[in-house]
Amino acid sequence: MEYKQAFSNTCDFLSKINDPGKVASYIPELGSVDPNKFGVHLTTLNGENFSHGDFNEKFSIQSIAKVLSLVLAYELEGEKLWKRVGVEPSGTAFNSLVQLEHDKGIPRNPLINSGALVVCDILVDHLQNSKQTFIEYIRKIADNHSINYNEKVAQSEKEHGYRNAALINLMKAYGNIDGNCDEVLDFYFHLCSIEMTCSELSRTFMFLVNDGVDPFTEERVISTEKSKRINTLMQLCGFYDEAGEFSFKVGIPGKSGVGGGIIAVLPEHFSVAVWSPPLNEKGNSYKGMRFLEMFNQATDSSVF
Ligand code: GLU
Repeated sequence: MEYKQAFSNTCDFLSKINDPGKVASYIPELGSVDPNKFGVHLTTLNGENFSHGDFNEKFSIQSIAKVLSLVLAYELEGEKLWKRVGVEPSGTAFNSLVQLEHDKGIPRNPLINSGALVVCDILVDHLQNSKQTFIEYIRKIADNHSINYNEKVAQSEKEHGYRNAALINLMKAYGNIDGNCDEVLDFYFHLCSIEMTCSELSRTFMFLVNDGVDPFTEERVISTEKSKRINTLMQLCGFYDEAGEFSFKVGIPGKSGVGGGIIAVLPEHFSVAVWSPPLNEKGNSYKGMRFLEMFNQATDSSVF
């Protein structure tokens, strides 16, 4: 089926279903989001755009931002990065501590909290005025100067971030954090608080559809080889302990966040962002997962 038809059929179907998911409540700022929000935006490599519902409303992209911090850290550190963080799916929740002790402070991958904290440590070390420099980097990739942190969300994360504090302190004890834990945590909480709309998000990720080059500005963000590896990591590790199921059912690289957003890319074809706050038991947007499964099946979209 062609994209346009499949997109509208899937959105119509999902607008009517009863959502069994629950909005993330581990920080108050996320818990107050309207559970009925539902937005989708798909951007194709040849510049077509399809959108639905609340696609133009900003939301907290949360862990989706971990892909963007990884892109910059990989660019700055090169292959040395993989001495400090692995490339294996974790099979555990985003904020899990259990493997860190066993793996002597080396996180399984950069898309779970522990791995993202190591990535943040690298960025804080490399970047002057790190939070400002980082958001300017995101604005450049997004080709959009309105992208920003949400200070209230960052503050709320800080006030309730006991597990993240535990993760970073354990890694510090193993010698895998160079910087000051509070400074790195502050950077990490801001990273999680970045807000985008579905259309901004799908636009931002277009460089991963096009081998590392923004197809609209023609600026290279990352090398072709690194772009393929970032997509590999999203394919293997983008959905916490539901990554295997996502690969099995959806078959393209993606990353979710506890704000209810999901980004997914089919290299050489499209990037799609879905936002629906209620999450399934694994912490992924219930409708977001359903959208991608149905749309990809209808359009026969898969990297396999
Ligand atoms: N800010 C969240 C945390 O660190 C990120 C969770 C997520 O989206 O996976 O707890």
